[in-house]
Amino acid sequence: MAASRQSTHSAHDLVSARPLSTDDIATAQARRLRASWLKNHARTVYVLVGLLCAIVAIWQSWRISESNALAEVRRVGAERLTLYASTVDGALDRYRYLPFVLALNPAVKQLVAEGGARGRVNVYLETVNAQAGAAALFVMSANGETLASSNWSEPLSFVGQNYAFRPYFRRAMAGESGEFFAIGVTTGQPGYFMSAPIHGPQGIVGVAVVKVDLDRLQLDWAEGGENVIVRDENGVIFLSSLPAWKYHSLGVLDEAAMAQIRARRQYNNMPIPALPFKRPRLGVPDLVNIDGQNFVEHATALKQAGWTMHYLTPMAPIRDQVVGVVAMVTVSSFLLIVFLLYLRERRERRRARDAADEAKALRVLSRQLQLEIDERKRTEEELRSTQNDLIQAGKLAALGQMSAAIAHELNQPITAIRTFVASGRRLLSLDRKDDLDRNLASVSGLTERMAVITGQLKTFARKSEGRNRPVRLDEPVTAAFALLDGQIKAAGVHVVRHTADAALVVMGDPVRIEQVLINLVSNSLDAMREVEAPVLTIDIRAEGDEAVLTLSDCGHGISPEVQHQLFDPFFTTKEVGEGVGLGLSISYGIVADMGGTIRAHNNPDGAGACFTVRLPVVTEEPSHE
Ligand code: ADP
Repeated sequence: MAASRQSTHSAHDLVSARPLSTDDIATAQARRLRASWLKNHARTVYVLVGLLCAIVAIWQSWRISESNALAEVRRVGAERLTLYASTVDGALDRYRYLPFVLALNPAVKQLVAEGGARGRVNVYLETVNAQAGAAALFVMSANGETLASSNWSEPLSFVGQNYAFRPYFRRAMAGESGEFFAIGVTTGQPGYFMSAPIHGPQGIVGVAVVKVDLDRLQLDWAEGGENVIVRDENGVIFLSSLPAWKYHSLGVLDEAAMAQIRARRQYNNMPIPALPFKRPRLGVPDLVNIDGQNFVEHATALKQAGWTMHYLTPMAPIRDQVVGVVAMVTVSSFLLIVFLLYLRERRERRRARDAADEAKALRVLSRQLQLEIDERKRTEEELRSTQNDLIQAGKLAALGQMSAAIAHELNQPITAIRTFVASGRRLLSLDRKDDLDRNLASVSGLTERMAVITGQLKTFARKSEGRNRPVRLDEPVTAAFALLDGQIKAAGVHVVRHTADAALVVMGDPVRIEQVLINLVSNSLDAMREVEAPVLTIDIRAEGDEAVLTLSDCGHGISPEVQHQLFDPFFTTKEVGEGVGLGLSISYGIVADMGGTIRAHNNPDGAGACFTVRLPVVTEEPSHE
């Protein structure tokens, strides 16, 4: 019982230094639960992580491909815009000199100043325009009336029309060159008017004008599949590759702008509807939405006052391109996820297979181990019983050796008893009852002594139960010396006992401890046979939590050659019939069974051997059978 309690305690010590608290158990349980939750939901977690990665990859691919596409569109847009802006300038520059040339013509001057030959000037203008290729050339009087025009012969001739309300007329009359885009009030054709003052002897007498048709430019842009618009200072689109947007404003025009347009009759009093316009994305300032369509916008101011040219790249193809890339990345991501899941499943299946194989192998192994353990147990049982038999045999052998001493020990009281009995008879015949009583008391004392000797022999011969219990170490020691008392005396050995710590309690079987002592003392007696004044010293002391028993003799000691074989079974240096070589080997087994050790060495002074037995001390009270 005590032994099992002790083993539980030491096993417990191995597992943990302090007792497990309910907190520890709860933490361990939570950890186990978490681990098993992770195991059960591993696939879901993998899929979620995969999806998250896929979403990030898709989002990144969308962002990067869009920004790349936008960068390319911006680069191309900037180039195109510069090109188209220069074509507008070029188209106008070709004619810019012409009003000045007309204003210098003497016939023109004369017509304007004095009302000369109108027909000649008409023909002159027509001839010049046939070469120049402008929409029209015309000359106005100081009050704004058209005196001669290159289209004099056409049904919608400017001749006789008054355009004094046009800003280009006013500027030329003020001595500057004028430029103005407007829809012609006579023809309804839009055009760009450039004017120059005609100087007479008394100052400005009239205005020479060239009207340039810009429709060709728009057609070129439209044919090139480009979206190009030009807005005036009020925001009205007057040139556009998309005809539907022409004469529309981007955003609603304010009242002042409308009034100005009306006064100049710039757009022939047409309504100027506003095109729906907004900037749909905060982070992309050049993204505009016009009339429901998204464009990347590039704008530049043209040389002409207030004009702005816009080059618009539709977002639809960019979006298609981005959607294509995103779709590709999406499909690839999902394919990758599916592939990784497939790999994982395969690995899991293989692992499960391996685990099953391993479990099977383990089962086989554990079955084998169990068989082996059973076998070992059986062998151990056999060994134990053999050991017990050997102890018994050893004891009987010792009894054999002791028999002479015992016989001597018993002989003495028997002889004495015989003498006492003889003298007792005599005393009886003499009726000396008192002396007879003393005589009988002596006989009784002697028989008691004999009973002690035989009792000890009985105890020695009895077979051990083999059960350990707490026992005072000095008890089996005293019993062993009592048993061997006869032999010790016969050999004339002086025994010195240092047993200050004799009350030490160890866990063991007293009969077996006694057996160990008898073996050791018998060996010492044998070793000191040739010694003149043999002394045997026994010492019992405590060292830490161990009881240390040393038995030191002054015999022949242990030679180095045999030192390492002492505890081997059947090792003996004694003559045949004197020793069987089992004493120390059995003693070794007994001490080891009790959790102790036994060592042999020679005394430091070189005389005799010393055997040291160490046994763990227990705190329990000694118990008796
Ligand atoms: P046995 O006594 O039958 O020979 P043991 O196992 O008891 O068997 O002893 C084995 C051997 O150890 C002995 O033969 C002896 O050589 C040696 N031995 C044991 N005790 C002593 C001792 N006190 N002094 C010298 N040698 C010893």
